[in-house]
Amino acid sequence: MGDDRADRIAEFIEPLRVEPGSKVRLAEDFDPGFRAGVRKKKDGVELLRGGIEQLADCQRRLAAQDTYGVLLCLQALDAGGKDGTIRHVMSGVNPQGVRVVGFKVPSNDELDHDYLWRYSRNLPGRGEIGIFNRSHYEEVLVVRVHPDNLRRQKLPDAARGPDVWKRRYREINDWERYLTDNGFRIVKIFLNLSKEEQRTRFLKRIDVPERNWKFSSADVRERAYWDDYQRAFSKMLSATSTPWAPWYVVPADHKWFARVCAAAVLVHTLMDIDPQYPQVTDETRRELAEVRKELEAEAPAGAAPDPYKKKTKNKKKNEKRNEKKNSTKNRTKNRTKNRSADKKASS
Ligand code: AMP
Ligand code: MG
Repeated sequence: MGDDRADRIAEFIEPLRVEPGSKVRLAEDFDPGFRAGVRKKKDGVELLRGGIEQLADCQRRLAAQDTYGVLLCLQALDAGGKDGTIRHVMSGVNPQGVRVVGFKVPSNDELDHDYLWRYSRNLPGRGEIGIFNRSHYEEVLVVRVHPDNLRRQKLPDAARGPDVWKRRYREINDWERYLTDNGFRIVKIFLNLSKEEQRTRFLKRIDVPERNWKFSSADVRERAYWDDYQRAFSKMLSATSTPWAPWYVVPADHKWFARVCAAAVLVHTLMDIDPQYPQVTDETRRELAEVRKELEAEAPAGAAPDPYKKKTKNKKKNEKRNEKKNSTKNRTKNRTKNRSADKKASS
């Protein structure tokens, strides 16, 4: 794998990473409008295209190797751009290898279990990329901002004391550690939106008829808890960014830039795993050669013994011929150019 490229991606996402053990104050530490020197959307779109291609390649190898799984947790405030990020970043990968799961208000059945139960049941398998659109982190965000949610969780008294958040952070870190140790890599992205950009996006949902369906007055009411959420996010980022499952705070005021960052974070994780296609053993290779002989012998009259091989051979021949033609053309062109330059110089 290109080390250069891996280094460049690591460098690009470094300012977004929450250093494990550091104390985050969102408003002071992370700027939602940051663009890392990428000035134009056009350049961002080009970067994203490269990221999508790399992602597709890594995902094919991840699936073929069937040893590791990857879980991407996406968190954001309303209108933070989670849906669009998933749509764009995953646009190039084989849908069979990706599992996107959204988490809403828990059902009665879900409330009848421990709080990590529903997330656990929806984890990706080996060879898969799983995306949580909202995740187990809601359990220390919306549940913390609105304690009514905690009351609905039917916890025993001893489990809902004032240390409940600290305990949940520890339990979440332990759970993620366990998953990582067993071959499931976890990356976490928080799409960091400014309050003003959220206002603009809500208004767009009202102004553009095709977006009306996305508008929810509940989301606007939730905006009144902006400061509470900022505090809950800051505490969560400080307590749960770990060496095995770090948080990345992605600036989300420019959607195109958020997508470039999300793709880069995901590609970085996959490059780190560096999944490989399984090696074919000598025995399998011998077996393949035997079967090829049998299939070649079955060729009907007039057909090539191996039509695929013939096709690729012809393709290669044509490529070589074109290469030669082009180089002769260029040589003639250069010669004519040099000759006319000589003429000009001597006149
Ligand atoms: P949306 O993502 O817009 O479909 O909304 C899903 C809603 O479910 C949001 O308002 C979340 O706050 C809420 N939600 C997600 N997880 C939980 C949870 N564990 N407890 C309570 N509410 C949740
Ligand atoms: Mg919503």
